[in-house]
Amino acid sequence: KNGPELETILEKQSCGREIGSRILVFVRLRPMGKKEREAGSRCCVRIVNQRDVYLTEFASENDYLRLKRLRGRHFTFDASFPDSTSQQEVYSTTTAELVEAVLQGRNGSVFCYGATGAGKTYTMLGTVENPGVMVLAIKDLFTKIRQRSCDGNHVVHLSYLEVYNETVRDLLSPGRPLVLREDKQVMVEYRVKDASNNVVNRVGKLSLIDLAGSERALATDQRTLRSLEGANINKSLLALSSCINALVEGKKHIPYRNSKLTQLLKDSLGGACNTVMIANISPSNLSFGETQNTLHWADRAKEIRTKACEANEEALQVPESEADQAKLLLELQKEN
Ligand code: ADP
Ligand code: MG
Repeated sequence: KNGPELETILEKQSCGREIGSRILVFVRLRPMGKKEREAGSRCCVRIVNQRDVYLTEFASENDYLRLKRLRGRHFTFDASFPDSTSQQEVYSTTTAELVEAVLQGRNGSVFCYGATGAGKTYTMLGTVENPGVMVLAIKDLFTKIRQRSCDGNHVVHLSYLEVYNETVRDLLSPGRPLVLREDKQVMVEYRVKDASNNVVNRVGKLSLIDLAGSERALATDQRTLRSLEGANINKSLLALSSCINALVEGKKHIPYRNSKLTQLLKDSLGGACNTVMIANISPSNLSFGETQNTLHWADRAKEIRTKACEANEEALQVPESEADQAKLLLELQKEN
């Protein structure tokens, strides 16, 4: 593993921009909705340029009378998407490089964070006409695999899970809740390089996460344990926030075990992983408070450092005889 022999056969592939070193944070502003417009709401967010967001502190007449002054705040992110940004643009900027990195054996994760109605599900899943990040990533992954089919065999495992009330369910095969166990990673890709008599196994995991509405975490924080649902959604997001705080502060102990969500995301958050956060916001002044919270949260997430993003790979010696090679290949296939 990582021996000089392996180094000679592997080109040093970088993650493109330095996505291994810290979390990349993006903000996506959604268009004003019909209901918001009918309610007479005004826009309190402006995407100033490709990176900066400007939030005006008061947008309603009442706020203005109360605060008596005009204030606003700029936030800077890795990219800020105005409401005209297409799904494809969001995918290309935030996730395409992670898909490429997964094929090189690097883990990646993309989170959508924000209040209910801010556009998380639209960004992640999208619609039939405008498919979102999940759909575009899967399409792209298979396109890339097809282009590399001569490099060796590729095995793809896909799971689609829901974490709700601290219960994990399999959305592809509904039934009893799943029990979480820590397990060996699944093989996603292995490449055969016969010329150098080496087989390289590469494993990469891509996690795409549509988080619960962030406002509920705050609501239940103030009114204690309002309902089981509120409490448990709170638990997931609070646990995620605790982990992020611990990661930001460089703590040794990260409390992943506090919730099912963070247990699931352990290797997608602090591990050797390319992590992307997309903070979704509404333009309406009616959501000012939520937008402010989301932007503050996103601003803090920029400080998270992840471990250097190394590839998950191991080299195996390929036997001389063809019969033994076939045996090895069979074993590898069985493992998968
Ligand atoms: P969330 O998942 O954060 O609760 P949704 O993704 O369901 O929010 O978005 C709320 C509404 O706004 C939906 O009707 C969705 O189709 C619409 N919407 C969100 N983002 C966009 C966008 N970028 N462009 C057009 N419509 C959007
Ligand atoms: Mg949603």
